[in-house]
Amino acid sequence: MVICKTVDSLREYLTSLGSSPNIGFIPTMGALHDGHASLMRAAKSQGQFTVVSIFVNPTQFNDPSDFAKYPKTLPEDILLLERTGVDVLFLPDVSEMYPEGTQLSEHYDLGYLETILEGKYRPGHFQGVCQVVERLLKLVAPKKLYLGQKDYQQCMVLRKMISLKQLPVELVIVPTRREIDGLAMSSRNMRLNEAQRKGAIALFQALEEVKHNILEKTNASFSSITSAAQHVLESKGFIVDYVSVAQAPDLQLVDHWDGKVPLVVLVAAFSGEVRLIDNELINLP
Ligand code: AMP
Repeated sequence: MVICKTVDSLREYLTSLGSSPNIGFIPTMGALHDGHASLMRAAKSQGQFTVVSIFVNPTQFNDPSDFAKYPKTLPEDILLLERTGVDVLFLPDVSEMYPEGTQLSEHYDLGYLETILEGKYRPGHFQGVCQVVERLLKLVAPKKLYLGQKDYQQCMVLRKMISLKQLPVELVIVPTRREIDGLAMSSRNMRLNEAQRKGAIALFQALEEVKHNILEKTNASFSSITSAAQHVLESKGFIVDYVSVAQAPDLQLVDHWDGKVPLVVLVAAFSGEVRLIDNELINLP
C-alpha cells in the first residue's frame, strides 16, 4: 500500500498510474473497524483501485471535546488497510486539507435535510462534512464513492452535495456492519467502558422494537411508538436526542405509513459522554 501525506504527492502518484483507473474512494476518520473494512471490500469486489483517506475533519465537529477525544489508532489502521488490500492511503494533516484555514468558504444549500435529526442536533456538522468530502472528491476523482448506511443522513446529504456540485461520481451505500449482539460498529464504541458497551445494545433493540411495532400495530401513530422506545432508553440511562421515523428516500419525517415507500428508523443517544447513532430500514411488506 502506498501512503501519501500531502495533496501534491497523492496527485503525483495518481497521475503516475496513467490512463485513469477506476478509483473506489472511502473517506474515513480512522480508528478503523470491520464496518470500514466492509466498504473497502465492497470497492475491491467491484474491481476498483481502492483509495482510503484518514482525516479527522475539524470542521464537522460542533463539540470541541468530541473532536479532542476522537480515537486515534494509526498503526492498527495501517495493518487493517494492508490486510484488506487497499491500494492507497491518503493521510493529510489539517494544513494540507485547509491551507487557507478551516473557515467554511461556502454554504451548501442542503435545505430540509440539514434542519432535522443530526442537522438539528449538530449545527454546522453537515456543512463541514460537505466541505471536506467535496475537496477529497475533487482531489481523488473517484468513479465510485463508498459510504456506510450507518450514517444514513450523511449519505443523503452527500448525495445532495454531489448533485448540487454536479460531481461525476457514483454513490455506493454499504449496509451497516454490527457486532454479534447487534451494536453497530463505530469508532466511538472504543470510548465506552465495559458497562456502557454492554448497555449500548439497547439502541439496536430500540430500533428493532420500533420496527416491529410499526409492522404489527398498523393503527398506532409513529410518535407513540417512538416515544415508548425513547422512554425505555431513558430508563436505561441514555440521554436521547431522537428516535424518529422517516421516509427512506428523502428523510421526510412521518407519523403514519402509506405503505408505499420504504421507511427508516433513526436513533441518536448519549451513553455517558459518548454519542451513538444507528438506524434500520423498513422495506415494503
Ligand atoms: P467514519 O470514520 O466514522 O467517518 O466513517 C467512515 C465511513 O465508514 C462512513 O461512510 C461510515 O458510514 C462508514 N461506517 C462507519 N461505521 C460503519 C458500519 N458499522 N458499517 C458500515 N459502514 C460504516
